Amino acid sequence: MSGTASLVIVGAGPRGTGFLERLAAALPELYGDRPLDLHLVDPYPPGPGRIWRTAQSPLLWMNSMAEDVTVFTDDTVRLEGPVRPGPTLAAWSGTDGRRFAPRPEQGAYLRWAYERARDALPATVTLHEHRTTALRVDGPREGRQRVWLADRAAPLPADLVVLTLGHLDAEPDAEQRELAGFAERHGLVHVPPGHTADLDLSALPAGEPVLVRGFGLAFVDLMVLLTEGRGGRYEGTADAPVYVPSGKEPVLYVGSRRGVPYHSKLGYALDGERPPLPRFFGPDRVAALLGRDGPLDFRRDVWPHVSHELGWAHYHRLFTAHPERTTGDWAGFAAAWAAAAPGGPGAHDLAGLVAAAVPDPADRFDPDALDHPLDGLRVPDADALQDVLRDYVTADLRRRHDPAHSPDAAVFAAVLSVYGQLVRLGDRIDTDGWWHGFFSYLASGPPGPRLRRLLALSEAGTVRFLGPRLTVEADERHGVFRASSPAVPGAVTEARALVEARLPAPTVTGTASPLLRGLYEDGARATPGGLLAVDPADGRILQRDGRPHPRRIALGPHTTARAGGGFTRPRTGGLAFAQNDAAARAALAFLRDHARRPAAPARTLVPVPAPQRRTEEHHGPHQ
Ligand SMILES: Cc1cc2nc3c(=O)[nH]c(=O)nc-3n(C[C@H](O)[C@H](O)[C@H](O)COP(=O)(O)OP(=O)(O)OC[C@H]3O[C@@H](n4cnc5c(N)ncnc54)[C@H](O)[C@@H]3O)c2cc1C
Repeated sequence: MSGTASLVIVGAGPRGTGFLERLAAALPELYGDRPLDLHLVDPYPPGPGRIWRTAQSPLLWMNSMAEDVTVFTDDTVRLEGPVRPGPTLAAWSGTDGRRFAPRPEQGAYLRWAYERARDALPATVTLHEHRTTALRVDGPREGRQRVWLADRAAPLPADLVVLTLGHLDAEPDAEQRELAGFAERHGLVHVPPGHTADLDLSALPAGEPVLVRGFGLAFVDLMVLLTEGRGGRYEGTADAPVYVPSGKEPVLYVGSRRGVPYHSKLGYALDGERPPLPRFFGPDRVAALLGRDGPLDFRRDVWPHVSHELGWAHYHRLFTAHPERTTGDWAGFAAAWAAAAPGGPGAHDLAGLVAAAVPDPADRFDPDALDHPLDGLRVPDADALQDVLRDYVTADLRRRHDPAHSPDAAVFAAVLSVYGQLVRLGDRIDTDGWWHGFFSYLASGPPGPRLRRLLALSEAGTVRFLGPRLTVEADERHGVFRASSPAVPGAVTEARALVEARLPAPTVTGTASPLLRGLYEDGARATPGGLLAVDPADGRILQRDGRPHPRRIALGPHTTARAGGGFTRPRTGGLAFAQNDAAARAALAFLRDHARRPAAPARTLVPVPAPQRRTEEHHGPHQ
């Protein structure tokens, strides 16, 4: 066996590419000119990977503006390695920075970034691209690991493994199995949670009602593929589009717990004085939480502080940018707000403080109302509900594009700041439940144009709203799905098709990835919510015995190093970049110190030309 050290990266999407970029940046300093075999395993093309592959419908868009997307570091990122600046998606594509790029375009940008990282590797690195799936990692804790691939009998030897597996499919849970069985017994259609771009939607017939459970980004993808994707088009103006059906679309009846779509993306940037963050939820608060004994509960132990931080950002902005809508001065309010921190002397009268200082309730930060926008709603019939929802979406679009409501943008900035702090809590806290849902609903909603089109589809009758607290029943007697909401007492919608419009939950026990499940069975630790627990310092997988695994690193949405889950905005500290940097440096230091050393090269006095770095490709099915 060769003495060359071997590093295997499984998953070559944005996160695997980001890791590679940091590896190339740090390699000369930390690893010198030692030889390295670098294996990159992914059935999809490296760079875009699965989610951003260029071979997918251009009707699917990013939900971030092109100027807000970068995969390159800048001097705001906490790095030990060198900054390697690069263009945003907008600068790279030379297009309007405020547009929402089609996903294949982002895929091309990621491919370009991948090639740049690959080309930055020194000639001493031999890169092997394996277009296949990794099935299992095993090997002794203190020795070389083995990575078993789907397309070859012998495993890849690995001194270190990096798992950037991203968004994975899940096995159906008990409820989904029941619904699938029900659908099969009655000849109905049931589409379980999945990646919308990968689903076979051909079973949803034209003109037929389809119940859709979930009103987030998976719904938006579904809506696009079943309308424009089936030949429908928009006339009118961008601000007031009118849908012209093709006649091939089903009728989408959509509802969810909240009953409303995620909030529109903000249509303006935060100018002027930025909220001073972090203020109440920074490193000190995190240290205090880490110092507590016993398990931490997000809603009980963390949320009061997070909520206080979000409110702080909101009111800072209101007082500094829109003082005419407040009474008193900022300094006085800020002092009172500080005293009203959870457990503080003024905590009992937070509501009174706000009511006195902010006359208009629309200017107050009310996270409960935000989380339950239709609570208590009762309307006489389904048609009345359609009007309520259209008014809600119209008002949301107006507010989210109006800088007069810039405290909303300050809250968005605070949400990102909070996310950056939460990852320091590692696996002491589960952020995957309510918080991640609230975060996505508030800060990761659809582009404005998508919501305008949703309104047009509603006007055309192609989309019908079902309301909040949606329940779906499997009616065995009549062989149909039945949906209802307490907002429309007595109304029941029947359909022969049900789509679960949401991503599969990323849990180590429910995952359809044998690789991830195998890691867990092999002793990896998970949060109560099922995320793979990793050391916040360098991404090493934590074992149930408390020790980090020296030879296994994991980063990304299936781990506690998930970094907010989206692409980085330029000049915002790029948490994922910092995590990638720390992990790449730890990996190189480990390989340098612990991998098998190659036999000392024979010394020669004759200079030889530097070898060209080799890249070997092993192709699989997905191009
Ligand atoms: C549908 C969708 C849309 C999104 N849109 C946006 C957006 O508009 N803006 C934004 O900021 N964020 C968005 N996100 C957030 C998303 O988290 C990031 O954009 C990004 O995709 C995460 O990168 P990743 O590399 O961690 O995961 P992924 O993109 O999922 O990449 C992981 C890669 O690992 C590979 N892999 C997994 N298991 C194995 C295995 N066993 N063997 C070999 N290879 C394996 C997969 O094939 C895949 O290529 C979106 C997410 C989804 C799911």
